[in-house]
Amino acid sequence: MQIIMFGPPGAGKGTQSQKLAKLYGIPQLSTGDILRAAVAAGSAVGLAAKAQIDSGALVGDDIVIGCIRDRLNESDAQDGFILDGFPRTVAQAVELDALLGQIGKSISCVVELVVNEAELMKRVAARAQQASATGAQVRSDDNPESLKMRLATYHSATRPVAAFYEKAGVLVKVDGLRDISEVTEEIVSLLAAPASG
Ligand code: AMP
Repeated sequence: MQIIMFGPPGAGKGTQSQKLAKLYGIPQLSTGDILRAAVAAGSAVGLAAKAQIDSGALVGDDIVIGCIRDRLNESDAQDGFILDGFPRTVAQAVELDALLGQIGKSISCVVELVVNEAELMKRVAARAQQASATGAQVRSDDNPESLKMRLATYHSATRPVAAFYEKAGVLVKVDGLRDISEVTEEIVSLLAAPASG
């Protein structure tokens, strides 16, 4: 099963991806996590991506596609995966289709988590607060300025990706405002429905 978790920052993509990864025994592939690890390691990818991540802008398609291509080749991703935060542009979606096509695979389902903007702002602020209260590292982009940029980027560059997958007949929408476990349950039942493969 090849799943994409789609939605704006703070919609719960990471949380739901982790739950589904455990349930289905397939990995969560988060480009945000891959890029943050590259920044922490000081690699060439990290150096090239840091300024964009901090400001809330998108990292270049070539860099992100290179990261995903490498990750999809790893052994744990051969029986399925959950993409979290990728693709974020139509160009990335087109390239992903090509990559999967080369290995005889395709996207089974794109789950769009629908959450209004006021709630997104609240959730991201709460995440930063919680991280600092527990002594964990606060994400460099979990601040009001970067969040504004991340939301603007979502609307201009990433929203069209939903239409791309709607046309392909694999997009399902889920109300992301409910309890975490209720959202997971709905996703699981949608994934079990015949139309979503
Ligand atoms: P995330 O953890 O998914 O919220 O991603 C954090 C940041 O990493 C984003 O705001 C972007 O700067 C960068 N990023 C993550 N995934 C992508 C992607 N698919 N395309 C471009 N930039 C990305």
